[in-house]
Amino acid sequence: MPHEITVDDLIALVRTYNPKTNEDKLRRAFDYGARMHEGQFRHSGEAYFTHPVSVAAILAEQQLDDATIITALLHDTIEDTASTYSEVAELFGNDIAELVDGVTKLTNLQLSSSETKQAENFRKLFFAMSKDLRVILVKLADRLHNMRTIKSMRPEKQVQKARETMDIYAPLAGRMGMQWMREELEDLSFSVLNPEARNSIMRRFLTLQKETGDVVQQIKDDICTVLEKVSIEASVVGRAKKPFSIWRKMQEKDQGFSRLSDIYGFRVITENECDVYRVLGAIHQRWRAVPGRFKDYISQPKSNGYRSLHTTVSGRDGKRVEVQIRTRQMHDVAEAGVAAHWSYRDGVRAENPFAVDPAKWIKGLTERLDSAEDHDEFLEHVKLEMYSDQVFCFTPKGEVVKLPRGATPLDFAYAIHTRIGDSCVGAKIDGIRVPLWTRIRNGQSVIILTAEGQRPQATWIDIAVTGRAKSAIRRSLREEDRGRFIKLGRELARVAFERVGKKATDKALQTGAKALDLPNMDDLLARLGCAELMAHEVVEALYPELILTCGDEIEPAHAIVGIEQGQGFDLAPCCQPIPGERIVGITYRGRGLIVHAIDCPVLMEFEEEGARWVDLHWHAGTHPAAHGVTLRLTISNDAGVLGRICTLIGEQKANIADLKFVDRKPDFYRLLIDVDLRDSEHLHRVMMALEADTDVAEIERYRDVARKP
Ligand code: MN
Repeated sequence: MPHEITVDDLIALVRTYNPKTNEDKLRRAFDYGARMHEGQFRHSGEAYFTHPVSVAAILAEQQLDDATIITALLHDTIEDTASTYSEVAELFGNDIAELVDGVTKLTNLQLSSSETKQAENFRKLFFAMSKDLRVILVKLADRLHNMRTIKSMRPEKQVQKARETMDIYAPLAGRMGMQWMREELEDLSFSVLNPEARNSIMRRFLTLQKETGDVVQQIKDDICTVLEKVSIEASVVGRAKKPFSIWRKMQEKDQGFSRLSDIYGFRVITENECDVYRVLGAIHQRWRAVPGRFKDYISQPKSNGYRSLHTTVSGRDGKRVEVQIRTRQMHDVAEAGVAAHWSYRDGVRAENPFAVDPAKWIKGLTERLDSAEDHDEFLEHVKLEMYSDQVFCFTPKGEVVKLPRGATPLDFAYAIHTRIGDSCVGAKIDGIRVPLWTRIRNGQSVIILTAEGQRPQATWIDIAVTGRAKSAIRRSLREEDRGRFIKLGRELARVAFERVGKKATDKALQTGAKALDLPNMDDLLARLGCAELMAHEVVEALYPELILTCGDEIEPAHAIVGIEQGQGFDLAPCCQPIPGERIVGITYRGRGLIVHAIDCPVLMEFEEEGARWVDLHWHAGTHPAAHGVTLRLTISNDAGVLGRICTLIGEQKANIADLKFVDRKPDFYRLLIDVDLRDSEHLHRVMMALEADTDVAEIERYRDVARKP
């Protein structure tokens, strides 16, 4: 059992790098933490408070400032003890309370590490949720100590924590530039997750050592000899890489334990930047550089401040050796990463010109609301603008889904499962029903409403923004469409043929396909259905002589066959029947005959009154474009869209009789347009033309039962 760290030990440690530390405050924090955690124990049986103290010591070893050390001492108080945010604020100041609160929030994030694809999102979420990177530093130190003491946990718990560490915390440490922390976290996890692999690597190390002697010392001596020759003062460090990073390289490259460069790493630390390049020159002169392995992170530093030259050379016996060359200051940043900013040396903040200003660094990653956060609704208010091309939203279970900016609930649905996407009928964002083209914002939770048998709509293609959703919708539509278009095409053909007094039999259609050079009847019908081909073209191809005889438009009074001579009639305003549709007449006392479309729901009222029904059908021939139909459109609220809609309708030789808005939202309009049309084929053409426009989110024929006669 390691010796227990006392408050004096901790203060002494802090004083080594920061003699001006606020000893009294550290002592008060230590006492407060000890008192709060009194009576709590760890799995190992130790007093619980040994844990926060160890976390504080880890951070003190990194020479971090008082606020970080105090936060470490208090990091579990708000969560696990009677302590509160306001009490911590009162005793230690708002800054400390904020930091402790930040650590608590990270701790409370539901990490489902079983889904490794979520890991990257969580790492981003961590940054987004941390106003101050010291929160993450404390969280990482917390995890490091828990991993160092993991053996006292239950085996299942060990595996879960190790996986989480491997997926989330180790890469997080890497992102922060803390390589040593990353390596230690990985190696501790590795020994839980795959002890056999780790042991076998350790054994091979020993074997190698026996075979070749102290390779590290030999290579180190070689490098030193080279440096002496060109008289450069520099320190050379050689070390075996951690078993996990060796194992990972072996996995990645699918090769054995043979490449020296993957086992040992060497560092040359110089006094100044000029020497860095001189060392590189000397090494490259002595040994052959391996092509493609040279990297200059000095002229192009990593975003976390990492600067170094990397090269791999063929050293002794042609064995490859990896060498990193950098100055002392660069090295400090390479080890501490972003934390270098807070580190102290001789009582003052170490002024390392290469240390990244964490405030600027995190600002580069995140733009957040400065307004006071409502802590209870924290997640909803988290602004995750840092990856400005991405949004993060949540499933009802709290899992994070990453989508590109501008993504809609459809993208969300398809991101979860194609089945969910295909059967989507609606969505709720933060509990409120929203149109499918609503753009999801960061931190929102999305629920997809599905219905059995629902199929994707053509308009979805333009609503979805992700490739995954678009291709799934296309795939589904292709299957769906053909069937739908064939059905529609058959109906259009029927009407066109009837108009010239013919029947659209399979035989006639097959002949038509041949005449038009199409592979078969279904192909002809599908083309008719999607308006690639006009029904009158099919009729013309088959009966060129007939077309000429029916050029004149039918007078409206004679439009319908089956009406007694002299009897007046009206078209029902509820269903707005148009030529080409099946119709029926209903006699209304005192109003004469009203013509309904056969599928008009109003007809149900007359089910028992057979005597009032009159069989009717449209006159076969060309009707004037004078049949009013109401269309309901949903269009995006962008400049010029409405104008384009009107042009599209005009291009189809249809007249707009009326237009009214029913809904105006910042991002869309919903409107009703009354259009005068010739017949059902004309309607179909108009609807197809509109549907093809990217700014039309929805279009449907609008029939209002309330307008019944
Ligand atoms: Mn803890």
